[in-house]
Amino acid sequence: MTIETFELLRPTSLVEASKLLLKYGEDARPIAGGTTLVILMKQRAVHFPYLVDLQEIPDLDQISVEGGWVRIGAMVTHRRVECSPDIQRSLPVLAEACGKVGNIRVRETASVGGNLAHADYRLDPPPALLILGADLVLFGPNGFRTVAIKNFYRGMYETALEPAEILVEVKIPPMPEGSQAAYLKYSSLSANDWPCLGVAALLSLKNGLCHELRLGLSGLAGTPLLIRGLDFVRGQLLTDRLIEDVSKVVNEQISPMSDLRGSEWYKRQMAGVFVQRAIREAEQRLST
Ligand SMILES: Cc1cc2nc3c(=O)[nH]c(=O)nc-3n(C[C@H](O)[C@H](O)[C@H](O)COP(=O)(O)OP(=O)(O)OC[C@H]3O[C@@H](n4cnc5c(N)ncnc54)[C@H](O)[C@@H]3O)c2cc1C
Repeated sequence: MTIETFELLRPTSLVEASKLLLKYGEDARPIAGGTTLVILMKQRAVHFPYLVDLQEIPDLDQISVEGGWVRIGAMVTHRRVECSPDIQRSLPVLAEACGKVGNIRVRETASVGGNLAHADYRLDPPPALLILGADLVLFGPNGFRTVAIKNFYRGMYETALEPAEILVEVKIPPMPEGSQAAYLKYSSLSANDWPCLGVAALLSLKNGLCHELRLGLSGLAGTPLLIRGLDFVRGQLLTDRLIEDVSKVVNEQISPMSDLRGSEWYKRQMAGVFVQRAIREAEQRLST
């Protein structure tokens, strides 16, 4: 596979990068690790005469913890998130989800920002970031703004990013007190393939009864999904019957597409199975 000629622009600040994106408009795109963009360009699915390389912009590759919030620069790779002691300690479900992306070569190169901005419908990190209530910091011609990840996805491959805007960092609040979370990936083709579907569950209990349940899903709609309307579990025992009721709520909100990883019917069945397993896994982690 060959690639059509393009010019690689190497800005050294966010302001410069955004100006270049504004100047070249539809002819330009940011490039981070290039794991998606270069493949698409080699396949001639897309062509951009100008690529705006984000690697020289300072501080986009930092992980930091401030006031309990974890901040992950857009250029941080999945492998660094997976292996970060700070993240393993405070947001283990995110390390778990990033550790399930593709294979180690992809994780060493692919950036968290590239994953989110690409907005494929079957990615591993978004469900974990949805249940964690992450905020995304964007920079563009009008300066910085923050968008909650639940409002970031607008459709398949469509996000809230405006022209010439760059995803700068992901900010994640501390997990709710007494909660545990789990991310389960189901690959129907091979172990390190893209997910057929992914389910992240966050659970907290009070006096042995459910206090809070959050579910984030991937591969089950045109965008990653945060399931709405789970408040009814509060104060109830976490029985199989209750989980069945939760699965019904999930089934009403998903709209899986048939693709080579499974039919719509199959994905609905598997969604029920993996929702149940993810909730039980989070419960198990609460007791250990
Ligand atoms: C073999 C293979 C297997 C994979 N398996 C999985 C998997 O199992 N699970 C999974 O979740 N993903 C998987 N992926 C996808 C992978 O996660 C993405 O390719 C990767 O995260 C994209 O990051 P990147 O840094 O390479 O982005 P790039 O390829 O550089 O860019 C991707 C897109 O995002 C835009 N972009 C990048 N950074 C920014 C930014 N900071 N601001 C605004 N726009 C930006 C680019 O313009 C481009 O449109 C796989 C990819 C490959 C090649």
